[in-house]
Amino acid sequence: MQELIRSLLAEMGEDPTREGLLDTPKRVEKAYKFLTSGYDADIDQVLNNALFTVDYSEMVIVKDIDFYSLCEHHLLPFFGKCHVAYIPTTKVIGLSKIPRLVDVFARRLQVQERLTNQIANVIKDKISPMGVAVVMEATHLCMSMRGVEKQNSFAVTSAMAGVFRDNARTRMEFLELIKLRSGAAGVIEQRTPAGLACVDDY
Ligand SMILES: [Zn+2]
Repeated sequence: MQELIRSLLAEMGEDPTREGLLDTPKRVEKAYKFLTSGYDADIDQVLNNALFTVDYSEMVIVKDIDFYSLCEHHLLPFFGKCHVAYIPTTKVIGLSKIPRLVDVFARRLQVQERLTNQIANVIKDKISPMGVAVVMEATHLCMSMRGVEKQNSFAVTSAMAGVFRDNARTRMEFLELIKLRSGAAGVIEQRTPAGLACVDDY
């Protein structure tokens, strides 16, 4: 990868041999390896015995989870907050494991919609809850840094399954509890249009 980064620097019009850039290929490789380490993560190892059988059927919410990901269209960061809720049937996930799950999928090349769905799906698969909801609010540097459509550089995506999809009261209770900073609860009600996050056609 370091050779590619040296070529990239040259393509940008830089001199890869000047002092300030000498170690840049090494640093960039290290950074990219970390930022894409989710490809090598084993979900079962991440959850590592943190699935517990309980007699509890109220909503479990973990909100304001910071996440950082890279958009697959531009390899630029998008980052923000993730909110996760589920209603257990027989099993819960250790609370500290939820942010770890978010990281596993965020540390890959992503689009925000798929990232949101993957987090919801893994919770569905692992503990078969009555319902699961994931909402992600993120700023996309590929939009804001390039100065395009500034008002769209902030995107909200959601994945709702089970009772969160079928029961409007459960869904509203969740949305009320996470109080979106964009105030986009109404938008989510109507479902976020596909392709909202990080438009790929320019
Ligand atoms: Zn992008």
